[in-house]
Amino acid sequence: EKRLQGERWRMFDLESARLSEQRLLIAASLKLAIEEDQLNLHFQPQICLETGDIVGCEALLRWHHPALGAIGPDTFIPIAESSGVINQLTEWVVAKGIEWQARFCELIPEHVISINISAKDLLNKDLPVLFITKLNELGVSADSVMLELTESATLEESKNIKITLDDYRLIGVKLAIDDFGTGYSSLAYLSQLGFDEVKIDKQFVLNLAFSLNDQSICKATCDIAKTLGAKVVAEGIEDPQSLAILQRYGCQIGQGYYFSKPLEADDYLLWIKNFKSV
Ligand code: C2E
Ligand code: CA
Ligand code: CA
Ligand code: CA
Repeated sequence: EKRLQGERWRMFDLESARLSEQRLLIAASLKLAIEEDQLNLHFQPQICLETGDIVGCEALLRWHHPALGAIGPDTFIPIAESSGVINQLTEWVVAKGIEWQARFCELIPEHVISINISAKDLLNKDLPVLFITKLNELGVSADSVMLELTESATLEESKNIKITLDDYRLIGVKLAIDDFGTGYSSLAYLSQLGFDEVKIDKQFVLNLAFSLNDQSICKATCDIAKTLGAKVVAEGIEDPQSLAILQRYGCQIGQGYYFSKPLEADDYLLWIKNFKSV
């Protein structure tokens, strides 16, 4: 029995060693990825559920590793966060995102670009400076940029976050609470920090037509957001039934495969042009 347990531990150690080795490899490769142009932004449209117009898009990071192939953000973002590479990664996303936003605005003047910001980025003092520089350089107005934030783990960080968010408010960018309801983004966070938008996570939307629980959660989120004066964005809309339910709840903005998957910049530009001529 004792020997077996030892054996189990040894296997566990090997497994975790292999995992951390892979994490180290990915963390190291990410630095190179930025320098060697392996990163790309995709854009997923966001649609006004009241008028059917394009509101803007969410910028989503893609990484094509020369040897390992495509690596998803769900894999590399957490590693970037724990290894500290996230700050450089986000700076790249912000710079590229604002450059593309300048192009998108030529087609749709009210176009808003949403950019994912990690809680760790809020401690990066260079980031607000980069925003100001890039917005000025490209003549993009600050309120056409939305920062999507997920709650950070610790309460202590939360205090600093409030102070930093005031910096971003001064710049004039908009703030959204991301993944609302998932346990990372709580009611306390929502009411303390005052957001312009609340994003319902796709886990509550994907099966909306068949889940009474998810319906309650989505409806409650819409009601809370209304009380707080924030707009609601639902992600993960894949079918017309879910769309109709969300419209009934007063959800203002929708995103999901029902409208479009995330697209390469050129494809997104084409998508906008075709959409307008429909
Ligand atoms: P997220 O912020 O919740 O982004 C939404 C995710 O849902 C995206 O996955 C998107 O492709 C996917 N999605 C959108 N519509 C649908 C749908 O109708 N059905 C389904 N099944 N999925 C849908 P993606 O692109 O793989 O990104 C995963 C996560 O990685 C993001 O979740 C976000 O947390 C993170 N991420 C992506 N790009 C960035 C970035 O530039 N910076 C940071 N910090 N995080 C990022
Ligand atoms: Ca997001
Ligand atoms: Ca997120
Ligand atoms: Ca989400």
